[in-house]
Amino acid sequence: TLLVSDLHLDPATPAIARQFVEFLRNEARAARALYILGDLFEVWLGDDDPDPAVRSIVTELRALRDAGVPTYFIHGNRDFLIGSRFAAETGCTLLDDGTIVDLHGERVLLMHGDVLCTADTSYQRLRKILRSPLTLFVLRHLGLETRRKLGRKLRAGSQMHVGATAAEIMDVTPSEVVDSLRRARVSTLVHGHTHRPAIH
Ligand code: MN
Repeated sequence: TLLVSDLHLDPATPAIARQFVEFLRNEARAARALYILGDLFEVWLGDDDPDPAVRSIVTELRALRDAGVPTYFIHGNRDFLIGSRFAAETGCTLLDDGTIVDLHGERVLLMHGDVLCTADTSYQRLRKILRSPLTLFVLRHLGLETRRKLGRKLRAGSQMHVGATAAEIMDVTPSEVVDSLRRARVSTLVHGHTHRPAIH
């Protein structure tokens, strides 16, 4: 079983996409399943985005699914607009953030990880607004060009926020991790988002 997270695929960095495609065509073919824990894309404007860089990843994910490898996707804070059309086109099953899965006999909690960063209160406020059903509805009905402009603004704002915020505030809150494990009654959590690969 393979898990990947936070590739932040972006037309500006095609080498990362090439490496991911290589992974999907080779290593991933032998996997029992592939879990993508969010922020696969630097930005996701909507399932209707015709960008060829985006379309090629959709095609490659479909090819993996057609080769018999079940694929699962949890939204990240960059690609939270991924929807049912993406799921249908790629064959990926969309999972809720905080799903418990059975990995080789062990119950494991899977999250993107941004909800664990509770010390970053201004981010959590923004997240609540962006992920509300009303905002999602409005965003999905805006024209692609408007969404593109909005995406640029959000990313610029995010860069400023990251630059102005202490590293420990941007990291997961340890007590929140423990609470999440307790609530789910599991002893293993796999998450992305923080870009700090480690086993704790
Ligand atoms: Mn993230």
